[in-house]
Amino acid sequence: MLNLTESRKAFSEAVELLPGGVNSPARAFGAVGGNPIFIESAEGAHLTDVDGNRYIDYVGSWGPMILGHGHPKVLAALEEVLHTGTSFGAPTVLESRLARLVIDAVGSVEMVRFVNSGTEATMSAIRLARGATGRDKIVKFAGNYHGHADSLLVAAGSAAATFSVPNSPGVTEGTSRDTIVLKYNDADGLLEMFSRCGSEIACVIFEPVVGNMGCVRMTKEFCEALMRVREEYGTLLICDEVMTGFRVAYAGAQSLLGLSPDLTTFGKIIGGGLPVGAYGGRKEIMQNVLPAGKVYQAGTLSGNPLAMTAGIATLETLREEDPYDHLEKISSQLENGILAAAKKHGIPLCSNRVGAMLTFFFQNGPVTDWDSAARSDTQAFAKYFWKMIHQGIYFPCSQFEAMFLSAAHTEEEIAYTIDAAGKAFAELAQEA
Ligand SMILES: *Cc1c(COP(=O)(O)O)cnc(C)c1O
Repeated sequence: MLNLTESRKAFSEAVELLPGGVNSPARAFGAVGGNPIFIESAEGAHLTDVDGNRYIDYVGSWGPMILGHGHPKVLAALEEVLHTGTSFGAPTVLESRLARLVIDAVGSVEMVRFVNSGTEATMSAIRLARGATGRDKIVKFAGNYHGHADSLLVAAGSAAATFSVPNSPGVTEGTSRDTIVLKYNDADGLLEMFSRCGSEIACVIFEPVVGNMGCVRMTKEFCEALMRVREEYGTLLICDEVMTGFRVAYAGAQSLLGLSPDLTTFGKIIGGGLPVGAYGGRKEIMQNVLPAGKVYQAGTLSGNPLAMTAGIATLETLREEDPYDHLEKISSQLENGILAAAKKHGIPLCSNRVGAMLTFFFQNGPVTDWDSAARSDTQAFAKYFWKMIHQGIYFPCSQFEAMFLSAAHTEEEIAYTIDAAGKAFAELAQEA
């Protein structure tokens, strides 16, 4: 058993000072019980907590740390820029450098605006889509999470679902009235809704590979239906790649789907662990944003030099080192190894994976949408989670999240993790 005394102490102080002791509910361990573990430091694929316990990290700050923690190139770039100033409220050339990297990588993006989080990116992209089309209604899908902007906080997956707050208090009926929630991967449902009011719908926002109800792939048929409604009704497609961008492929999930959306949102990896978001798309649409156009959107710290630098160093390193084959290899080893271990011990388990983004669901599957994801045995998941923690493995603390591997993970760590999972499954089988 691990000693978690210092984490416990830190948490009891934090709950007096911060609501629930955290600054984001996804960290609160609400779905698995017990106290969150407080982190002291991280390096490569490892986290060290305030009690000195070391873990193999499969959360990666919920996505950004694709190179692993403290990559030397990212740290060196940050150290260099730090001494030149931390914020000016005036343009720097760093913003154009990161913009060019994003535009070069993602075919559908010709122009970008940087913001400070994924939430800001999706919120601003929605405003832009409404401003550009002159329409009010938007479509989102159950179990897709796009951050916590009011109009998107409806049937919003992971943290909201985990905490059973599908519609948050404080989000008015007026705000959510223009948000139409449909079933993910249901092409007929989408086409049917558009046949009723398609010409009033400004945009459809979606995760191209869902991460926030656990990992779920988009079907080909659904992708085609999205392209069809854009074609027939002039509705804009907003591909939310905050999680998938530079993760499932350097060119994003849209490159795997053969999809060319009107707008794309980014976050997580493009900030390399610092707070960044972005939205981008065709020039003709992006030119509607102030001061080029009339759609208002601003930010005191947007394009912050430290954040831009971490993003530039991360994307340049991804381009140079091209870790995607390695990520695919270790991720598929982990997937196959853990599935085999579960099978051996008679634990019902299925998985969805795209590259280095994957979820094991405690059920037989298949998981294709929110309803099927929700059938998972969350109690078995919670027990498994703690059994893994006690073997030094830090998994996402909810059944409805994806886990992330980094370029710093090695085959040895994967083998150790599979072995630990086998022990956890054996115990689970015995307890059942
Ligand atoms: C994380 C995430 C967001 C929100 O980003 P924040 O930086 O947490 O505001 C939006 N969309 C998707 C798909 C995400 O995974």
